[in-house]
Parts: sequence; C-alpha cells; structure tokens
Amino acid sequence: MSTTIDLAGQVAFVTGSTRGIGKGVASALHRAGASVAIVGRDIAQAQRVAAELGDRTVGVACDVAQNDQVEAAIAAAESVLGPITILVNNAGLTRDNLLIRLSPDDWDAVLNANLKGAFHTTRAVIKGMMKRRAGRIINIASVVGITGNKGQANYAASKAGLIGFTKSVAKEYASRGVLVNCVAPGFIETDMTAALPADARAALLSQIALGRLGQPDDVAGAVLFLASDLAWYLTGQVLVVDGGMVI
Ligand code: NAP
Repeated sequence: MSTTIDLAGQVAFVTGSTRGIGKGVASALHRAGASVAIVGRDIAQAQRVAAELGDRTVGVACDVAQNDQVEAAIAAAESVLGPITILVNNAGLTRDNLLIRLSPDDWDAVLNANLKGAFHTTRAVIKGMMKRRAGRIINIASVVGITGNKGQANYAASKAGLIGFTKSVAKEYASRGVLVNCVAPGFIETDMTAALPADARAALLSQIALGRLGQPDDVAGAVLFLASDLAWYLTGQVLVVDGGMVI
C-alpha cells in the first residue's frame, strides 16, 4: 500500500464544483493527479473553473435533477477525459423554512437536486465502474441528515436519504469493486451559509469543539482520502467532518 495519495490516471466527475465545497474538492483531486470534470448549471462558470485548474479538466453543465441533462454531461465529460472512475455527488441546495411554511415546491426542489440528482449520476456511471470492477462514489451529505434541524425538514430528509442511498449502493456493488461512502460536513463557510445572521453563526461556533468554522479544504481532505488507495477497505460509511460539532 502506498502512503501517498496519487490519483494520476483517475477521472473525477464532481457535481456542484463551480464554487464552494465542490470547487475545493475538485481542486484537491486535480492536485493529486486526477483529471476532473467541473459541473454546475452555469456552463460559463464551469468552463472558467476548469480553465483555472488547467490541463486535465473539462467544464460541463447540467441540472442534476434532470436525468437527460446528467446523461449528456457525463457523456460529454467522458468523451474528453475518458471513463469516470470517481464520482462526487456534491451539488446541493437549501430552501429553508419551518414545516408549516414549507411549500411542496420547496420540498421538490431540494429533494430533486440533493437526492434524486445523486441517483441520476450514480445510475449513469455505475455500469462502467462495474465492468472495470473499480470505482469510488463519494456523496456529500450533512450532519443535518443525522441530527435533523429546525427549518430544514426538506434538506435533512434529502441528506438522510442520501445516507440510506449510500449504504444501499455500497452493499449492491462492493463485490464489483465499487466503494461508496458519504462525507457529512458540519458548518462550512461557502455561499450556502453566507447569509446566516451573526448571532446564529456565533451560536454555532460555540458548539464546535475545534473552535472554528469549516472551510471547503477541510471537506476536500476527507474526499481525497475516500478516493484514494488508503480507503481500500472502507465502504458504506459516513465520515463526519464538522470540527467536533456533533460528538
Ligand atoms: P454552494 O456554495 O451553494 O455551491 C453549490 C454548488 O452546487 C454550486 O456549484 C452550484 O452551481 C451547484 N448546484 C446547485 N444546484 C445544482 C443542480 N440542481 N444541478 C447542478 N449543480 C447544482 O454550496 P456548498 O456549501 O459548497 O455545498 C456543497 C454541498 O455540501 C451541498 O450538497 C451541501 O448540501 C453540502 N453541505 C454544505 C454545508 C455547508 O455548511 N456549506 C454543510 C453540509 C453539507 P450552480 O448554482 O451554478 O448550478
């Protein structure tokens, strides 16, 4: 077993990598030698981030909630980079509200992007991974999928669903060499969390044992590990990356 992480020859498809955690994950995988598809709904932004990273990249667009768009984006990425060997399901969004004010549209938007999106991408890459008897699928869930959170019934349900999805797919494809795991971040500073009022931010900070909010690179480290040879004997797991917020 090598003790360094070398992903040369690997091809990663990272959804929601035009900014935030996904961009941090894509950069880390790329620095480790992988070719990387940058994916978001905005093609210009996806291509900008791909160009920023340099060689061994392509920018493609899809709304992960739309199966036909996902299939087309994966085909486009594979035509440039080759077969996908690492899938990171990171694209996600929030539409927070107390249950009583949560509309069916808020529910569908979050469940379709955060959970159904991972189903679409996983379904599109799994056959190739099975044939090659190798593959890594890493789903970005959330501690909220474990603990629940007021005002986030839709989001928590999507992330809890993603954890159940991960464990099921891990069991189905372990014998084919495909390892499927979750990373569950706590509070990470990105566009998604930027609007949180200062008092709520301070209250959260007081619960974090390591005494600081998380950064995209904190999540990227965990993803890099799960994508590497170091995680060879690990599947169906949820790795919580929250600075000790939920212990
Ligand atoms: P972010 O800064 O808002 O970035 C979200 C990314 O997902 C963007 O690249 C966005 O690109 C893309 N995206 C959103 N909806 C999409 C869709 N339907 N199809 C394709 N791409 C889509 O969010 P983030 O904080 O980095 O979060 C990334 C992931 O980590 C999410 O799954 C989130 O739930 C999870 N997470 C975040 C935190 C946190 O504290 N930040 C904590 C736990 C878990 P476009 O808008 O251009 O499409």
